[in-house]
Amino acid sequence: MKKLGKYSMGMGDRFGHQGYAQLKAIMEAAKNGVGITPVWNKSNREHMIIGTQPQDVRKEADAVTGAAGFTEPYFVDADHINLDTVERFIPASDFFTIDVASYIGKRADDSKIDTFLDRVKKYSGRIEIPGIKRTIRCSADQLWGIAENYLYAAGKAGEIYRKIEKSKGAGNFVTEVSMDEVATPQTPLELFFILLMLGEEKVPVQTIAPKFSGRFNKGVDYVGDPSQFAAEFEEDLMVIDHAIREFRLPSELKISIHSGSDKFALYPHIGSILKKHDKGVHLKTAGTTWLEEIIGLAEAGGEALDFAKSIYIQALEKTEELCAPYADVIDINVKMLPSAGLVRAWNSRKFASSLRHDQSNPDYNPNMRQLIHVAYKLAAQDMGHFSRLLDEHKEIVSQCVFDNMLTRHIKRIFL
Ligand SMILES: [Zn+2]
Repeated sequence: MKKLGKYSMGMGDRFGHQGYAQLKAIMEAAKNGVGITPVWNKSNREHMIIGTQPQDVRKEADAVTGAAGFTEPYFVDADHINLDTVERFIPASDFFTIDVASYIGKRADDSKIDTFLDRVKKYSGRIEIPGIKRTIRCSADQLWGIAENYLYAAGKAGEIYRKIEKSKGAGNFVTEVSMDEVATPQTPLELFFILLMLGEEKVPVQTIAPKFSGRFNKGVDYVGDPSQFAAEFEEDLMVIDHAIREFRLPSELKISIHSGSDKFALYPHIGSILKKHDKGVHLKTAGTTWLEEIIGLAEAGGEALDFAKSIYIQALEKTEELCAPYADVIDINVKMLPSAGLVRAWNSRKFASSLRHDQSNPDYNPNMRQLIHVAYKLAAQDMGHFSRLLDEHKEIVSQCVFDNMLTRHIKRIFL
């Protein structure tokens, strides 16, 4: 069976230029004794916006691992697919993030709800989960609510899984189920029953991505109470452990953190809880690499700096349009966005330090960073120019990508 390592990282490389730099960060971690399975993920939305095919990600992953002599497993993730979008990802992918978010809240058939409620009767009242000290109460009403919210979605996860399995064969790919792109977080109790449902559907889920409480905005730090997150995260790990035994799920099953890049306030908690319980994690850091490309171009100066500025200035004019699809995962205070006139006068250092996620630098502007995060479409519209600049300034850009992965991410969680 295809298996992820204990630690794995989802790395997005939207424009397909930075796979080698990302892999080098993974290899550097290995030299320091920490094995991390690289997973190149790209969602349908990203493919549509950029005009690429899932095969392009496969080609890049095969090429960079081959060139680096990387002999450990690596994966290509069909990120956030559903029944409508999975088809074209099947040949090139060996990791599937089955996104059930859009099915949550839809009601399953009464007969299915009745069967489920009958199955979970024994949990009514209170649930004991080894490792969780507090009493978890679970009323009949709660069970009913969980059935109404999640049973249909779990059924869809089963349907999508079976569709992939039919083409690829069981065991030839990794299955993740994601529920993060919704407004309401899932509690550890809900996670427990969702895993039960996935077990009933016989989905061999290896990673599960719940929505945690607090805001996981793209490319910036966590907004919320990190100690509350830590308590919830630790309970989720205990729930997963228990669910593996109770519901015959794969022993590899681990938690997946989406929009996991740049959550610096959480990393010390995540790192210490994983070590305390000797657990693994899948951390998705997708869009950060694109930001590093813009930072690298800004640092390169000249025409490249002008390009970075023009992306920002165009984004400023299209803020609403660019942000709309990402409403649940960004929070931009438009009043804090520097004006086009101001930015035109900036030098390399000022632009790069406004964008780079270094909270100790007074220039750092998380509003500008989030806006550019969702503005990659604008570079896609000027692809020839963008690609040429990335090639011309390969060294400086790949250094930014490498440093970001290794220093700000891998070192803070895993080392
Ligand atoms: Zn996600």
